[in-house]
Amino acid sequence: MRTHSFHPPVRTLMGPGPSDVNPRVLEAMSRPTIGHLDPVFVDMMEELKSLLQYAFQTGNQLTMPVSGPGSAGMETCFVNLVEPGDKVIVCQNGVFGGRMKENVERCGGTAVMVEDAWGSAVDPQKLKDALQAHPDAKLVAFVHAETSTGAQSDAKALVEIAHRHDCLVIVDTVTSLGGTPVKVDEWGIDAVYSGTQKCLSCTPGLSPVSFSERAMERIKHRKTKVQSWFMDLNLVMGYWGSGAKRAYHHTAPINALYGLHEALVILQEEGLENAWARHAHAHRALLAGIEAMGLKFVVKEDERLPQLNAVGIPEGVDDAAVRAQLLQDYNLEIGAGLGPMAGKIWRIGLMGYGANPKNVLFCLGALEDVLS
Ligand code: PLP
Repeated sequence: MRTHSFHPPVRTLMGPGPSDVNPRVLEAMSRPTIGHLDPVFVDMMEELKSLLQYAFQTGNQLTMPVSGPGSAGMETCFVNLVEPGDKVIVCQNGVFGGRMKENVERCGGTAVMVEDAWGSAVDPQKLKDALQAHPDAKLVAFVHAETSTGAQSDAKALVEIAHRHDCLVIVDTVTSLGGTPVKVDEWGIDAVYSGTQKCLSCTPGLSPVSFSERAMERIKHRKTKVQSWFMDLNLVMGYWGSGAKRAYHHTAPINALYGLHEALVILQEEGLENAWARHAHAHRALLAGIEAMGLKFVVKEDERLPQLNAVGIPEGVDDAAVRAQLLQDYNLEIGAGLGPMAGKIWRIGLMGYGANPKNVLFCLGALEDVLS
């Protein structure tokens, strides 16, 4: 049998990510592929670095996109900063904190878990208690925006507490970057990673990261080699570091990087504050419509993420059937709950390009029809 070209349907992506990609990004990705050491490409990399510094609100020299999805950015932070025997406090309030624990353990470290209920923010007092009980901890890690539940934690407060105990801090901003404030320098974050497929409205598969001077010092003075050759920042910097001496490390995903460059140009054109305000505005419109339908948000008001809305599934409604019908009748994707929230919530994403009134009305109308 002959296989033909693949043509996906045109969906509206309003789940936990990937979000709808801005057509300008797709167009940028279709431009001619050039060499990853071509001087024109190298100039583009420099721009990409400044654009990422703007998105993260940082002057960190080591700011770049890892060639891999958000999970690769997560792993880059952990493999470089955790050495065998290190104690790491991991705050968990959803799926992704659990992955941080896995990362710590695979690096030979010990993870001390600070648990909060799924759907709640990380409790700063619990972090304080854990640091008091474990004065030998070297690192603290937490997820700023828990995509699995729609809860946002107070990153600034958590970093401050960790620093009082002389710990470096790794923060997951996969879902927050571009959607809600992420202020790497002002908050003093030491290592941060994100993803391209959420509020940046780029295609999946790249992970912007940024490391403070303090984090770089820790990495340079490691007693052991980073166990991952690909993610060892000492080697990656031979390619992503500034200056004329760029050397081959791996073949960069050239066209994907064109896409990220365009996504960040779009963000810069709009302005970060305006992008945050647009997400908040779309969230308020969705909230009004959802409540008018008699449905409820499950996360407390002051802990809600505007870009990831967790809506309780009404008693007796078949979660999977509703999502299947939305996909079939409306080409609309919304997300299911994960882990203990499976079958209990829908996750409605208002991310990046998709955070607009048209999408809000479309989603509300479709949901109302399917539920009636
Ligand atoms: N961290 C968070 C908070 C996420 O939401 C995700 C993906 O949804 C990841 C990490 C992993 O990113 P990726 O799926 O791009 O590997």
